[in-house]
Amino acid sequence: MTQQAPISSGKIASFAKTWLGAGLNLILPPRCPMTGALVGRNGTLAPDYWAKLTFIHDSYCDTCGAPFRQAMTPGMVCAGCLAEPPLFTRARAALRYDDASTAMILKFKHADGTHLGKIFAGWLQQFGGDVLHDADLLIPVPLHRWRLLKRRYNQAALLTTALSVQTGIPSAPHLLRRMRYTASQGHKSKTQRHDNIKAAFTVPENLRAAIKDKNIVLLDDVYTSGATVQECAKTLLKAGARQVSVLTVARVGFAQ
Ligand SMILES: [Zn+2]
Repeated sequence: MTQQAPISSGKIASFAKTWLGAGLNLILPPRCPMTGALVGRNGTLAPDYWAKLTFIHDSYCDTCGAPFRQAMTPGMVCAGCLAEPPLFTRARAALRYDDASTAMILKFKHADGTHLGKIFAGWLQQFGGDVLHDADLLIPVPLHRWRLLKRRYNQAALLTTALSVQTGIPSAPHLLRRMRYTASQGHKSKTQRHDNIKAAFTVPENLRAAIKDKNIVLLDDVYTSGATVQECAKTLLKAGARQVSVLTVARVGFAQ
């Protein structure tokens, strides 16, 4: 008499998951995370929201990534960077910081819209090619632990992890630390922003070997005045990094 092999509980769980997943897809078809409109597949934007976004794909400063107001030859550097070269090697951003990108970033930051991280990581890879091609390590701009407690997650660390998974470039989310609790940078002048963030970061002595002679890409959601990433770059270079570049989802302003 033949006896049928018993079905393991693992197999039952796997069948249930497959069927439940298929069922959920029927009940809950994919929707745009911003407008709620039906879309072809999960993790994509509705065409009308997509059309509102302004991607920085040409005519930008070769150093700081700020878009020029008119078409320029590739490789041009803006007057601001020529007058005062930044400490980072290059900065790139996928989008201009306007109403459409602000709404996405706020959702990602404050409204538990963490699923947007995957969409952003795709854009970072696409628009950050020239800072990622020789990168050794991805590092997020850190939050102070009090702010982390309040927010529950560091949006820059989520971007870093998603990009690391996508590109295979290693990430080190805890190497750079924020020592001081700094007031928000919003509504501050350039000098105030610089003073506010000065000496706010550190790399612990025992972790410095991990960044020695490495090409580092710093990640954040928005590049505003550049004061925060400049201070991070200064700290990382002082701790032994070979060079630091910057990659953000969005960027404020035009090239000077
Ligand atoms: Zn520039």
